[in-house]
Amino acid sequence: MTTVTLDRLTHYINGKKVEGKNDLVGYVYSPSTGQKIATVPFASAEEVDETVQLAKEAQAKWAKVSVGKRIQVLFKFRQLLVENTEKLAIQIGKENGKTISDAKGEIARGIESVDLAIGAPDILKGEHSVNVGGEINAYSMKQPLGVVTCISPFNFPIMVPLAMSTMAVAVGNAMILKPSEKVPYSALFMSELWEEAGLPAGVWNVVNGDKDTVNALITHKDIEAISFVGSTNVAKIIYETGTKHHKRVNAFGGGKNHMVILPDADMDKTVDSFIGAAYGSASQRCMAISVAMPVGQKTAEVFTQKLKEKVKDLKPGAYDDETANFGAVISAEAKQSILHAIDEAVEEGANIVVDGRNPDVENKEGFYLGATLLDNVTPNMKVYKEEVFGPARQIVTVDSIGEAIQLINDHPYGNGVTVFTNSGRDARKFTQEIEVGMVGVNVPVPIPVGYHNFGGWKDSRFGEGQMFGPDTARFFTKTKTVSERWFDQSETDETNFDFPSS
Ligand code: NAD
Repeated sequence: MTTVTLDRLTHYINGKKVEGKNDLVGYVYSPSTGQKIATVPFASAEEVDETVQLAKEAQAKWAKVSVGKRIQVLFKFRQLLVENTEKLAIQIGKENGKTISDAKGEIARGIESVDLAIGAPDILKGEHSVNVGGEINAYSMKQPLGVVTCISPFNFPIMVPLAMSTMAVAVGNAMILKPSEKVPYSALFMSELWEEAGLPAGVWNVVNGDKDTVNALITHKDIEAISFVGSTNVAKIIYETGTKHHKRVNAFGGGKNHMVILPDADMDKTVDSFIGAAYGSASQRCMAISVAMPVGQKTAEVFTQKLKEKVKDLKPGAYDDETANFGAVISAEAKQSILHAIDEAVEEGANIVVDGRNPDVENKEGFYLGATLLDNVTPNMKVYKEEVFGPARQIVTVDSIGEAIQLINDHPYGNGVTVFTNSGRDARKFTQEIEVGMVGVNVPVPIPVGYHNFGGWKDSRFGEGQMFGPDTARFFTKTKTVSERWFDQSETDETNFDFPSS
């Protein structure tokens, strides 16, 4: 038996790699092999507090650096992300399991958030009104909040932290990122790039840990804002606890994303779109399509037949297997829970059209699942009501576009949805009436580009305002409005007890 030496990961605090101070550690696995690859320290409340204090000192200085100088660091950071894309993609593949080409797509999407944050000088411009009354000028300014935290999920080890944190740093905050304990390498890699880009020590920090570390962060008196991305159950906890402690909170949860297929849709294009959007990244995307919703029996028959032929040929594989369509799922537990969801669906009357439960893969220890397609799924089934974060996708047939809209609107999740059709009128009705935050028309994964806002509705998001786009700058700043007048020494003094008016 070969003994594998585990990497011993650290935190990144105040510009340095910092060892954990207690015995609490987690293990990082490589989903492609199923092997443990590293230990990751879990920060205690005391370690969190020390980090916050250091970040506070750094933030006070960083906020005074001109925004023009701050974004010079971002320019360099962007360049380093581009130069290190290959290395970073391999790292993401190792810890997350996704294929290298998928990881490169993730990095490119993450860089869009840096592009947006480079626009901070423009975004931070305030409003100015001259002579609002009595030679008074009024103007507003956007100021940073202070020390803020981001808590990120496993499925986008680099894109989500970049989207959550880059603007926060650009507008003058100090950031403490708590990455998913399942994928801590990418956050540490990112820390090295920030350091090389010239970001002052303490402005960017990574504390590793689990829920106890998160709890210490979100209840800390000097943390001003919390940005969370993860599952809905945890998003609710973060929102409730954070707001109870008077923090600004935005918490993004899970999704159940539908693709509605109208009878006039181009069926071959629709099938290809569904496959990529549904099974890409082993379906571990919050915007992955989970449900195909053909309208009418005839549409369902044609769609299912064409889809089945292609889904059965999909192949999972190791992150560096160039022939794989997608990688392994994140953990042995995740694999079990997806298998359980399939079994339950069958018990409730669903029909397995393509069975991916025992995929033909080289490494039997890896957390692999093939593409599974379930038909005859009905809205009362658990598999339809809950998010299944893995490659088990479902077909729910409806009779009309109205029924499709009603079912989707009744679903607790409201992250993404898409409609495939050639009818402008139906598409318009759909986009107007659907109660979902991100909508596509003939677009398989309607994730908005980095300079538009991102965010679901209903149980897919808790808190005000969206994120990733311009709303990120609003979330991470507070507005101050100044009314100012300069006395003319020749004016006579007089006291006025009336309420000021223009
Ligand atoms: P998760 O909720 O298990 O974990 C997310 C983060 O929360 C991790 O950093 C984890 O350490 C921490 N955490 C876990 N349990 C906690 C608890 N009880 N208290 C405090 N913190 C806790 O999510 P995950 O499995 O890493 O990610 C997958 C989920 O994230 C899916 O549901 C997916 O849909 C969702 N997601 C949503 C979006 C979005 O933008 N809406 C984007 C990506 C992923």
